[in-house]
Amino acid sequence: MAKKKKESGSVKRFGTRYGRGVKERIGKIEKLRNSKHICPYCHQPKVIRLAAGIWKCRKCSAKFASKAYFVEKRSVSQPEAVGTSKPEKDAQSPEGQQDEKEES
Ligand SMILES: [Zn+2]
Repeated sequence: MAKKKKESGSVKRFGTRYGRGVKERIGKIEKLRNSKHICPYCHQPKVIRLAAGIWKCRKCSAKFASKAYFVEKRSVSQPEAVGTSKPEKDAQSPEGQQDEKEES
């Protein structure tokens, strides 16, 4: 007897069409996409997906960008840490800025 793997979840709507491989892939993604997502700002599972990569929290109404199918953890704290760690380019040597400061 051939092994029969039964499709379950959201891919059931496709019936016998489209093949098993693609259905397994989209099933995995849809399961991930429809699961609860934690808001990176208020840490409540109230985040809804507006579009691919765009998420909105229904609790604190924060709208932010993350992954296409799920909210990336620590997506908020990471860019801030990167931004603060490289203020090396702030060496104010261009002459244009110095001229503006002379207001006398
Ligand atoms: Zn929130």
